[in-house]
Amino acid sequence: MMYYSTNGKAPLATLEEAVVKGLAGDRGLYMPEKIKRLPREFYDNIADMSFHEIAIKVADAFFGEDIESKALEEIVRDTLSFDCPVVRVTDSIYSLELFHGPTLAFKDVGARFMARLLQYFIKKENKREVNVLVATSGDTGSAVANGFLGVDGINVYVLYPKGKVSKIQECQFTTLGNNITAIEVDGVFDDCQRLVKSAFMDEELNRHMNLTSANSINVARFLPQSFYYFNAYARMRQLGKADKLVVCVPSGNFGNITAALFGHEMGLPIHRFIAANNANDIFFKYLQTGEYKPMPSKQTIANAMDVGDPSNFARIYDLYKGSYDRIKSLIGGATYSDPQIGETMRRCYIENGYVLDPHGACGYQALKDMLEDGETGVFCETAHPAKFKETVEKAINAETDIPPRLAEFMKGTKDSVNMTNCFSDFKAFLMGK
Ligand SMILES: *Cc1c(COP(=O)(O)O)cnc(C)c1O
Repeated sequence: MMYYSTNGKAPLATLEEAVVKGLAGDRGLYMPEKIKRLPREFYDNIADMSFHEIAIKVADAFFGEDIESKALEEIVRDTLSFDCPVVRVTDSIYSLELFHGPTLAFKDVGARFMARLLQYFIKKENKREVNVLVATSGDTGSAVANGFLGVDGINVYVLYPKGKVSKIQECQFTTLGNNITAIEVDGVFDDCQRLVKSAFMDEELNRHMNLTSANSINVARFLPQSFYYFNAYARMRQLGKADKLVVCVPSGNFGNITAALFGHEMGLPIHRFIAANNANDIFFKYLQTGEYKPMPSKQTIANAMDVGDPSNFARIYDLYKGSYDRIKSLIGGATYSDPQIGETMRRCYIENGYVLDPHGACGYQALKDMLEDGETGVFCETAHPAKFKETVEKAINAETDIPPRLAEFMKGTKDSVNMTNCFSDFKAFLMGK
C-alpha cells in the first residue's frame, strides 16, 4: 500500500517510508491510498470474535500488503497485551476504557504498535539507528517512551512543556533512562510540537541523524487506534445496543477520532461521532462557522487536549474531500470549560458511582448533552483518573486509588535536559548526538 501526503506535493511513500519519516516532505500528513471496506461476513460475525481476532483482521486491511501475516499477527498480539473493555455508566452511556495499558492511557496502543513495527523494519533491513522525536502535552510522552523502552536501535527524545504536565505524567518519561531522553522545554506544548516539526525539516540535521516522529501524525500510531472501535462495536452488539451507536471522543490532536473515522470508512456501522473539546475548541468553532482558525493553546485541567492547531484535522479534511457538509453531518462537537469538567466528574460520581478523568469527562458530558432518543453512546475514557489524582479528588471529594503500575513509576528519579523554545538550541543539542 502506498501513502500520499495531505498537502499533495510530496512523492508517494511506502509504509516503511511513511513510518520512518513521520511527516511528509511537504509537511503534509500521510494517508493510505485506499481504505478497504471489510467484507459483510466480518461484520456478521464480529460479535463472536475476540479483540485479538478483530484487531488482526483490521490490521491486515491496512498493513497486510506490507508485512508478512505471521509477523503482523505477532505485532498485534504483542501490542494488545491488555483489554479495552466497554463498561456501563448509565443505560444509554458506556465507557470505552482505554487505560488498561502500561501507562494507563489510550496512547499505549498506538505507541506499542509503532515501536514494534519500526523494530520490524530495522531488523529486516539492518538499518542504522533511528531517533524518535516526540512532543507531548502529557500522555504521548509516557506511552511512547514506555512503548520504545529498551528497543534496540531506537533512541527516543521526549519534548514536554516545563511545569505544564502533571507530576505523575512527568515521572512516566523522565525516570526511565536507557534509550529514553526527556527534554524539558521552556514554553507550551505548541512550542514542543514546533521544535519537532522544524527538526524534521532541517536538512543538515537529517543528514546527521535518522529522525522520525511518534506523534499521532505517524500512520503507525494513529491507524492501530481503530482496533478498539471495532471491538467496542462488537461488545455493544453482544449487549444488543449497537443499532444507533454514537462514538464520542475527547479530542486534542484528533488522532484518536480520525482512527474511528477510518473505521467508519471501512464499513464499521457507527451512526455518528462527537468530538468533545475542552476550552481549546478550534474544531467546535469550525463546525459552527466552516472556518478553521488555529489558536494558541490554553492550559486546562484536561491537559492532553490542550492543542491549538490539531494536526489530524488535515486528515479529516482530506478524508471527506474538504466537504464541510459531510464533516458536519457525521461529526458533532462540544466544548467544556474547566468548571464544567469538574462538575461533570462530581455528578457522574454521585449519580453513577463512576470516576471519570478530566478528558473522559468531556466525552461523557457531550453524550449526556447530545444523545438523542434511541441512540446509545460510547465515550472514550482516554486515561485512568489516578493520572490526574489531585484534580479528580478535588472534583469528586473522595480519595482515589493509585494502581500499582502507576505507583512504580513514582519511585524513580527524574532526569531531564533543559531546553529553550528556540530551534537553534534544540538543533545544537541534537547535532552533538
Ligand atoms: C492524547 C490524549 C487525548 C487526545 O487525543 P488525540 O488523539 O490527540 O485527539 C485525550 N485524552 C488523553 C488522556 C490523552 O492522552
